[in-house]
Amino acid sequence: MRGLALPRLIAHRGGGDGAPENTLAALRLAAASGFRAVEFDVQLSADGVPVLIHDDTVDRTTDGRGAVAALSAAQLATLDAGCRHGPRFAGEHIPTLAHAARVCRELGLVANVEIKAPPGSGARVGAVVAQAVAQLWRVGPLPLLSSFDEEALRAAALAAPHLPRGLLVEAIPADWRARLAALDCLSLHCDAGVNTAAAIAEVLDAGVPVVCYTVNDREAVLRLLRAGARVITDRLQLAALSESPS
Ligand code: MG
Repeated sequence: MRGLALPRLIAHRGGGDGAPENTLAALRLAAASGFRAVEFDVQLSADGVPVLIHDDTVDRTTDGRGAVAALSAAQLATLDAGCRHGPRFAGEHIPTLAHAARVCRELGLVANVEIKAPPGSGARVGAVVAQAVAQLWRVGPLPLLSSFDEEALRAAALAAPHLPRGLLVEAIPADWRARLAALDCLSLHCDAGVNTAAAIAEVLDAGVPVVCYTVNDREAVLRLLRAGARVITDRLQLAALSESPS
């Protein structure tokens, strides 16, 4: 059985709210803050290069405009992905997955790679990202791939069956067991804000890892860690909680 190397507390979009999301500065800040795990979002440029960015456009997080899937990797590389977070991050770029892999390796960070794909492109994006992850992480703990897009997860399973995968949902569906089995997913990732402790406990009690997003209240993080869940947070100052879950 594939193991899950992901530590219990995970920095959201690289460095939570302490750095521009999905940048190398974010990964470095997470590590410096004591995190051993990071979640980030990956999609494809127009020319098929996996890059770290959350939205389907560059409008919110960079000084550019346009759809990620319509811009080449070279065009994306010219954008400033740090300036909107503050002047000290000006000049940060949208990293390629290859850059992020190198920084994760240097800093000892385990990655949760969320695959994002425009509607209808899940199969292609899932396959390309999974192949890239398999090539980039040949040593050390394997990243956990996750996605809301079931086509992307199916394609990732075919492209790199050895990589652990997690199904992303908002509310835990009644048929979660069947869906995880059909997709051969190891973990269930759910919105902590819309699921009861009992619903989360049911999955954990079945021996299935649960990753809860995005939890920023200290007591809520502690409760979930004590219940045995993994937690994605924006609050880097909570790093120490990963040491004392029980
Ligand atoms: Mg994400």
